[in-house]
Amino acid sequence: MTAPAQRLAWVEQGSRLFLDQLASIPDSAFPEPGTLPGWTTAHLVAHVGYNAKALSRLVRWARTGEESPMYPSPESRNAEIEQGAKLPAGEIRELATETDSRLRADLTALTAWDAQVRTAQGRLVPATEIPWLRTREVWIHAVDLGTGVGFDDFPDELVDALIADVVGLRASRDQGPAFVLEASDRASDWRIPGEEPVVVRGTAAELCRWICGRGGLDGPDLGKWL
Ligand code: ZN
Repeated sequence: MTAPAQRLAWVEQGSRLFLDQLASIPDSAFPEPGTLPGWTTAHLVAHVGYNAKALSRLVRWARTGEESPMYPSPESRNAEIEQGAKLPAGEIRELATETDSRLRADLTALTAWDAQVRTAQGRLVPATEIPWLRTREVWIHAVDLGTGVGFDDFPDELVDALIADVVGLRASRDQGPAFVLEASDRASDWRIPGEEPVVVRGTAAELCRWICGRGGLDGPDLGKWL
């Protein structure tokens, strides 16, 4: 299997976007409540750092064939974020920057793209999913930093891929409600089949924001995703 070029490019662009926005946030904002419930900016930045570290563990798994999960358990993932959020702002920045460049180097060096690894949610996926998992994190959390980046700043293909990803996951988990997403700027719509589907309308970027649990449209509250 060849390297997933589009996804690797999204990782690079998204990392740059996230780190650029992070650089514009003063240290004094780190202990303040962020845009995600229960998390300060420090929690969010620490999480993005530890996520890169966890995905580097998946790259190692793909490369060596030796099982190396993202996190030992959901509890340890959360405990790590809590601990990380208590670090001085400078150290959290360093954590986010260093783990990010390490992961990008690891991905660049990877050749075993068809090796199977397990996500934190327990899905068995080919290593080609690793850059996608990182793409979701850096782009969406760049919005969550609250510096003014929006889903309408994302490339169209990325917006479509994000919507398709969340719709696919919700459909596979049988998570209601059934709905039809009608994008005013796309030729086709997205559907989760079922009884009496809720129709949600907006631009693709607005629909993407909504289905990622970041509000903005009239529709059922789906809960935060990621
Ligand atoms: Zn996340």
